Amino acid sequence: MATRQPRRTSRTLGERFAVLDPATGEVFEEAPDQQPDELDAVVGRAHDAWRSWRADPDARAAAMLAAADAVEAAGADIAPLLTREQGKPLAESHAEIARTAARLRYFAELDVGPQPIVDGRPVRSEIRWRPLGPVAAIVPWNFPLQLASAKFAPALAAGNTVVLKPSPFTPLATRLLASAISTALPEDVLTIVTGHEPLGARLASHPGIRHVTFTGSIPTGRAVAKSAAASLARVTLELGGNDAAILLEDVDVEQIADRLFWAAFRNCGQVCMAVKRVYVPARRYGDVVEALAQRAKSVVVGAGIDPGTQLGPVNNAPQLARVERYTARALAAGARAAAGGHRLDRPGYFYAPTILADAPPDSPVVTDEQFGPVLPVLPYGSLDEAVDAANGTGFGLGGSVWGTDLDLAEAVADRLECGTAWINHHAELSLAQPFAGIKESGVGVAGGPWGLYGNLRPFVVHRPEEV
Ligand code: NAD
Repeated sequence: MATRQPRRTSRTLGERFAVLDPATGEVFEEAPDQQPDELDAVVGRAHDAWRSWRADPDARAAAMLAAADAVEAAGADIAPLLTREQGKPLAESHAEIARTAARLRYFAELDVGPQPIVDGRPVRSEIRWRPLGPVAAIVPWNFPLQLASAKFAPALAAGNTVVLKPSPFTPLATRLLASAISTALPEDVLTIVTGHEPLGARLASHPGIRHVTFTGSIPTGRAVAKSAAASLARVTLELGGNDAAILLEDVDVEQIADRLFWAAFRNCGQVCMAVKRVYVPARRYGDVVEALAQRAKSVVVGAGIDPGTQLGPVNNAPQLARVERYTARALAAGARAAAGGHRLDRPGYFYAPTILADAPPDSPVVTDEQFGPVLPVLPYGSLDEAVDAANGTGFGLGGSVWGTDLDLAEAVADRLECGTAWINHHAELSLAQPFAGIKESGVGVAGGPWGLYGNLRPFVVHRPEEV
């Protein structure tokens, strides 16, 4: 199934662990290697801070707006650090920071007031939405800041406090982000902890945590759900994807090729809702493979910090090994690399942008989430066949349909079994929309008011009209 994290990311240096630059494969910094037994004190302080944080919504909103300003002010320091540890081009790091600030503002201003229950009875009954308590936010390495903020912004706005654990592959920019935010928030309202799997497992099972919100792979998501069962905390899981793009007979290949290519390759394909398989009518197959291969061959691959880089390295060695393994297996089973198909001969975790033609439909690069710069393109005979193939995995995050007849495209999109379906686009999200994977891609809803409700509990006050 989806990406599994290694037991240890890197060498442990005493009470710190090494962080690598994926563009060189070399250590360039360290982060604190916190241990599970430290969490009692951390969660205890988060609980104490919750008492006052939950009490004053106006003060909360003001603090979150100030935090957004602080994030922007620190952006010039945070962005290069994010690029160094994650690998993405610098402009994309800046975009993550901008999105983080925007999300803080969005949730600061989103108000969920009391809601009357109107059911014909002679009572005044209303829902008053209440926070849950300390929230554990556990995030992966592909969008460290954006995904962290998708958790802490709604949780804080709802009146909860947050203990945030980034991936040990990318702890540094998140630490800097948290220290910028902490200038605007009361102490212990947002706490960051860094370390490895046992720290995450303890955080997810800690009895003082009332909501565990996790983004990452399906296997780890299962482990998190089991851990949280110990305290019966609420669980929100945003997990892996294997999104299909279906091209229709009337698609204008030259018009959509750039958009489709980047929907698959942005952030080196390390996007939960990237296009990970493309289904093309047999008659148009050769043209589409060629158009995508041309783009793959012309992309500027390099260190994210270098101006002009369009595609950085894969984030880490186990992830690169996974991409190599899946691609080699497909090639051995008869697939053809129309572009790429190999690691780049240079230091760091670089893999050539790869378009795979004729991959067997049952090869893992098609059926599983390879999470890298590789895109299998598959021919189909009938639309029913394409829809069945798109829906035929355990994943259900997103999907898209590409063509000129928008009504037909929408009718096909409506048949996709996933949380979000796009037409002539992919992975476009607004802060105001719900984001929810189905099947093994997730549990719960993030984004928009639904993300806020995910961090609140309904408290009903029921009062008769007369004594
Ligand atoms: P991962 O599951 O290996 O790790 C995610 C986080 O969980 C890390 O912070 C890790 O240290 C922590 N962790 C590891 N073991 C744990 C345990 N037993 N208990 C608690 N926490 C534990 O994922 P990854 O490799 O960092 O990220 C890639 C995966 O994330 C892909 O599958 C991708 O699709 C998925 N993802 C999903 C979304 C979404 O919104 N659906 C978004 C981005 C990424």
